[in-house]
Amino acid sequence: MNLTVTGTIGIDTVVTPNGEHRENILGGSGVYFAAAAGLYTPVGMVAAVGDDFPPEFAEQIAGLTGVDTTGLETRVGSKTFRWGGKYLDDMDHRETLFTELNILIEDPPPVPGAYVDCPVVFLANGHPGVQHGFASKFLKSRLVVADTMDLWIETARAELEVLLGDVQGLVLNYDEAEQFTGQRNSVTAGRKLLEYGPRFVVVKKGEHGAILVHRDGIAALPAYPAEIVVDPTGAGDSFAGGMMGSIAAEMARGGAAADDPAGFETVRRAMAHGTVVASFTIEQFSLGRLGSLSREELDARYHEYMHMLRLE
Ligand code: AMP
Repeated sequence: MNLTVTGTIGIDTVVTPNGEHRENILGGSGVYFAAAAGLYTPVGMVAAVGDDFPPEFAEQIAGLTGVDTTGLETRVGSKTFRWGGKYLDDMDHRETLFTELNILIEDPPPVPGAYVDCPVVFLANGHPGVQHGFASKFLKSRLVVADTMDLWIETARAELEVLLGDVQGLVLNYDEAEQFTGQRNSVTAGRKLLEYGPRFVVVKKGEHGAILVHRDGIAALPAYPAEIVVDPTGAGDSFAGGMMGSIAAEMARGGAAADDPAGFETVRRAMAHGTVVASFTIEQFSLGRLGSLSREELDARYHEYMHMLRLE
């Protein structure tokens, strides 16, 4: 396995500003991440659901390109994580309507033996204590990157600070970087976060792109100028999936990332893949678009995006 992720599998309710909403759709940080990363490289997913988890969602996950589900556990007597969010008019900001942690407050699922030699590990949104415990199982890891969000900054800050001392990278939203550091400026916030230990921080700014604050430099990438924005849920997780999946794939090929997986140029290149894959996620609710995306469609948009970035 080139890449392993732990994160949530969720049953989501999403409300968008044009009045459209969906109840009980497949979501979760681990799901969006794996769906994106699997387009680049084989990815093992470790997560647990309760016995209320619809079998058609389990089939959907199992059918995703490149996703290995050996690490998925269905726990009898437990309930699946549920989350509801409502987007504000700009589609970039959202309110959490409810979070039902359910299975997330129980013991985390075990890591399959076949995954423990994995070189690249992603800790998708989840409790920082669980993220840390998970990372500690991978004795041969060369790149460990974490994501986090408002709930965990609010409720588990101390554990988050400890986690940051043990990862090479952190990805988080602009608002969350401000919440954590008290700094509104993304570069200043990123630099503050580097003080906790990581080599790089990626600050995601929705339709305004993403900023890389790395010990070796600063970079900025615009978002792909998307015309279809139906549901931004999972954009951040799939951004991370494209980013980490492309790094793990490059390492497996013996490319530049194999020498220094957290290097400035490697992460910068990988962010372009994250940007492009996220632009598909938002075209439909849930995995409506991302889940059936082909590598050809992804590559075509990547080349179009690269062309847009080129200055004569
Ligand atoms: P994103 O839009 O990339 O931030 O990801 C949204 C997804 O993360 C949704 O599908 C939710 O099920 C999941 N999610 C929401 N809140 C949390 C949380 N506190 N921890 C882990 N996953 C969450």
